[in-house]
Amino acid sequence: ALYNQVQDLKGTIRVYCRVRPFLPGQSDERSTVDYVGENGDIMIANPYKQGKDARRIFTFNKVFNTNASQGQIYMDTQPLVRSVLDGYNVCIFAYGQTGSGKTYTMSGPDLITEETWGVNYRALRDLFQISKERTEMIEYEVGVQMIEIYNEQVRDLLFSFFLFSQSDLFMLILTLCTLDIRNNSQLNGLNVPDASLVPVKCTQDVLDLMKIGQKNRAVGATALNERSSRSHSILTVHVRGKDLVSGSTLKGCLHLVDLAGSERVDKSEAVGERLKEAQNINRSLSALGDVISALAQKSTHIPYRNSKLTQVLQDSLGGHAKTLMFVHINPAVNALGETISTLKFAERVA
Ligand code: ADP
Ligand code: MG
Repeated sequence: ALYNQVQDLKGTIRVYCRVRPFLPGQSDERSTVDYVGENGDIMIANPYKQGKDARRIFTFNKVFNTNASQGQIYMDTQPLVRSVLDGYNVCIFAYGQTGSGKTYTMSGPDLITEETWGVNYRALRDLFQISKERTEMIEYEVGVQMIEIYNEQVRDLLFSFFLFSQSDLFMLILTLCTLDIRNNSQLNGLNVPDASLVPVKCTQDVLDLMKIGQKNRAVGATALNERSSRSHSILTVHVRGKDLVSGSTLKGCLHLVDLAGSERVDKSEAVGERLKEAQNINRSLSALGDVISALAQKSTHIPYRNSKLTQVLQDSLGGHAKTLMFVHINPAVNALGETISTLKFAERVA
């Protein structure tokens, strides 16, 4: 059954919508989510307006309402993650305006417990567990890269891993270096950023690396929260398996992408650096939308070259690769405009 599920997903693009619950202090607000159907429908309405034209229905592969747990979210992601061990390339994206729950889905809340682990922890735990189960047939090697794309520049978040004995200043300078995307022969000709590829043996190794990556993100930022909402962060897990009977090898990779906030910036307010950031984010998110919708329409020309984000992910978008996008919405009335544009973006790629 799992095999069939995986076959179903092959070459397809799935879009799941997740509605963030109201946060403490917001609880007496009225929601813009009018109704969530069983079959992936979601109806959005302004609760203060009457009439039909105030309502819109969108349809996705699945809609997770506010009560969905992290475990439930992962259950529908698991077949994709597992297919990486069979040699598929998989991209999982979190899209939405700042504060809509992207990081919560991918990583979890700040105060994390096993219960609230996000997709990335669960995915890695799964990958290691399954590779252990197959240990008599296939020998797997797993390596991790962590990068950030900010203002169309790629930064290695794990560079300091090799330099932890150096001073903080040295670390800062090195992590600020921007990278090229190169063809990597070690990774069977995959085009990847020239970022550190760190071998890992267990989930704990990855948890430790993620802490380092997170810290490096902070080192380069004036204000961490601000910065993290304006850059894309990509955790990539490369898997190489050697069949112990036939001697053949397979490779797959999993990209876990926490995208920059999709909110439109008020052009009259943004100037200088802020305007540049906003333009770069708009540009890369629309480039991503263009690529995914071109793939969905089986178009012959896929415009990968329009942004660093789509260049980095080129080998994992299209072909036999699989894509899952979680689009996040904040149910507050003052987020209605962004909610509609988020769902329109998602509808275009679905
Ligand atoms: P983003 O990464 O899109 O900016 P966050 O993931 O940081 O948003 O979420 C904003 C706030 O909402 C955080 O405090 C987070 O813990 C909380 N939050 C987001 N999604 C959920 C959820 N499904 N359940 C409970 N709290 C959530
Ligand atoms: Mg975030």
